[in-house]
Amino acid sequence: MIRIAVVSGKGGTGKTVVTAALADLIPGSLVLADCDVDAANLSLVIPHEMKSARPYFGMQCAEIDTETCTGCGACRAYCRFDAIEETENGLKVNPLLCEGCAVCELVCPERAVTMKPRMAGEIYASSTSRGPLSHARLFPGAGTSGLLVQEVKQAALSSSGEMPLMLIDGPPGIGCPAMATLSGMDAVIIVTEPSISAVHDLRRLVEVCRGFQVRLFLVINRADLDPEMTASIREYCADENISVLGTIPFDPAVLSAVRAGKPVTGGSSPAALALCEVRDALCAALGVTE
Ligand code: SF4
Ligand code: SF4
Repeated sequence: MIRIAVVSGKGGTGKTVVTAALADLIPGSLVLADCDVDAANLSLVIPHEMKSARPYFGMQCAEIDTETCTGCGACRAYCRFDAIEETENGLKVNPLLCEGCAVCELVCPERAVTMKPRMAGEIYASSTSRGPLSHARLFPGAGTSGLLVQEVKQAALSSSGEMPLMLIDGPPGIGCPAMATLSGMDAVIIVTEPSISAVHDLRRLVEVCRGFQVRLFLVINRADLDPEMTASIREYCADENISVLGTIPFDPAVLSAVRAGKPVTGGSSPAALALCEVRDALCAALGVTE
């Protein structure tokens, strides 16, 4: 199986638009995963049918048994996240601050602290016309997005059967979810745009990707908005030996497609035609025929 992740140095570059279009255009069956778990939206632009949902348990949360607690304060003194608060009913753990480190459980002389599982989101299995889609929702304020990415990837792999290709919509940036996404990939497509902040973040992301020894590709979205900067991105890619799959022009058809909840494919708009060229270049580079 060829595993491809589409990522970006920063949000808003059009990464999901490119992923959805490639999912629609690449020949043959494939398994899809949305690993941008903090802002999952691939399912908004790929028609799908949800088949199942299951809870995701992230880090644990401490709970204090007020009957057993003597109020010695050791847990509070050792909690470096200030998650244990004094209330009129005794000490309570603030679940929004608790990082699940279990130090309080360790130091409690009365064994009054228990670590409890905490539901932090949901993992969904859906079907699309191209193949199965694994996606998730992380509850607001819940951490461990990197762990959830691993679970989404694992669920996608379990549903993939003999499928020859896996396509992931990855997160923006270089944080924990990005690391979890990049791990195990064969190829990474970075989507960028000609803006100072995007180019800055692109360089950081390329450095991170080098550590994963993946084949690197680039797509420049809205390239016509700043031809000079687009040319300098191309020069940078040539220096870094990164293959530019293509450029996508600014095109109102993209917004229309996103509003309609479908990929930017099938028409003769400039963006749709450019995305076909990106698909062709990718398939030729990876030897994908069907
Ligand atoms: S588990 Fe860690 S973060 Fe949570 S209350 Fe206990 S010491 Fe604090
Ligand atoms: S360490 Fe244990 S006994 Fe002491 S205040 Fe905390 S929960 Fe209560």
